[in-house]
Amino acid sequence: MNLSKASTLTQAFFLQATTPHVLIIAGSDSSGGAGIVRDIETANSLSCKSSVAITAITAQTNDRVIAVKAAAPDLLAQQIHAALSSNPIKAIKIGMVATAENANCLQKTLSNLNDIPIIYDPVLAASSGGALAKNNLIKAINELLLGGCDLLTPNISELAQLLSARPAVSDQEAIEQAKKLLQKGAKAILVKGGHLSGELAQDYLVTNQGVIPFSQPRLDAEMRGTGCTLSTSIACYLAKGDDLPLALAKAKDYLFSKLAIISKGEV
Ligand code: PLP
Repeated sequence: MNLSKASTLTQAFFLQATTPHVLIIAGSDSSGGAGIVRDIETANSLSCKSSVAITAITAQTNDRVIAVKAAAPDLLAQQIHAALSSNPIKAIKIGMVATAENANCLQKTLSNLNDIPIIYDPVLAASSGGALAKNNLIKAINELLLGGCDLLTPNISELAQLLSARPAVSDQEAIEQAKKLLQKGAKAILVKGGHLSGELAQDYLVTNQGVIPFSQPRLDAEMRGTGCTLSTSIACYLAKGDDLPLALAKAKDYLFSKLAIISKGEV
């Protein structure tokens, strides 16, 4: 082997060894607008490697959900074990869970991974329109997943559904609802105010230590998969070693840069 080829191989090996891995546990969206496609795209553009465990296959267009088929829990567990044993996973992002059985599987499979931060975007409906959760999923999330995750990233509607409440109509009401989720065992909630109105798109990190606001100008941009992009980018920045507030700030900047391109009509 010549020297320059050896050096290229060494560099490739070094990059592979130092690039942080995130495990993405999520559903597929055949339109490519959301779900695991968006997650992998995000991790890739933030220079992280993706390992995946698919919770459900969905057939979707940009306007509707046509079919949803959840993965069997044993297959989901096998994917997670295989991913964890193949790569040094530095953070885990959970998206669509689909069924109570899969919530139960995640609780069992992830319960002893205390060193790996887990970010959960509690997807209940598709941005294309249509449900992505079976009836008893909300109860299972509350009982099985809330306490095991390091950060939950619900939008206003998901936050309300997790509490069986009406959607908050103000930032203050959303923060109060997040505090109720903390009482149910959640460790940290990022309340996403993107669906409220106002000049600023205001998010809040709510923990038992207090509330940290994150604000950005509201952009006139529609994009599917914003929740997926934000939660995966938080996982990526945590995988790179940032603490939670810094990872959130960087992830919000990343999503903002994507939305800014759309609002300028550049895609
Ligand atoms: N995961 C899947 C498989 C989806 O289809 C969707 C939405 O359509 C989501 C996650 C969440 O998408 P968003 O980031 O738009 O909330």
